[in-house]
Amino acid sequence: MTQIINHCRVLSGWTPYGEVELASILPTWMDALQTIPDHLLKASMDKATADHDWSQPFPIKAMVTAYQQLIAEDRAKRQSTPHYRADGTVACRWCLDTGYVPVATYCPTGNEWYTPVYPCECAATPISQRAPVNIRADWERNDRGQWIPSDSSTSPRCQCGFCKQRRHH
Ligand SMILES: [Zn+2]
Ligand SMILES: [Zn+2]
Repeated sequence: MTQIINHCRVLSGWTPYGEVELASILPTWMDALQTIPDHLLKASMDKATADHDWSQPFPIKAMVTAYQQLIAEDRAKRQSTPHYRADGTVACRWCLDTGYVPVATYCPTGNEWYTPVYPCECAATPISQRAPVNIRADWERNDRGQWIPSDSSTSPRCQCGFCKQRRHH
């Protein structure tokens, strides 16, 4: 975040803030930019600063506007591309172009398997949600497109409230 603040500062033609100044303005920036997920901060800044007239002060809000534009552009792009192509093939082997990857996941607390969906990293997933897909070589996909770990030890970690709490102890 401090890099982003000083990047905008330097583009405005001023010298970078020192540590003390940064500490005092950081909360303002954090507050103004809290809707932007971490992995889109840089893209939002690049977009906002590219469009800005630098004879004017740079408003923090321009980054939020840029972020909303990124989301809107991404949504338009995803809607204009049919998920399934005419020849029946799909672009993404992990999510089959649905944007979400169902992975059978073991819950040690309940001693049961269930199948949550995880966001995919491909263009079918909304840009704000994209995350790396960690599918292991020994997993198999069933005819419903669900990924099945070979046993509970290779399952993704259960994200249910009980398991999360147990991991904290
Ligand atoms: Zn995908
Ligand atoms: Zn669980």
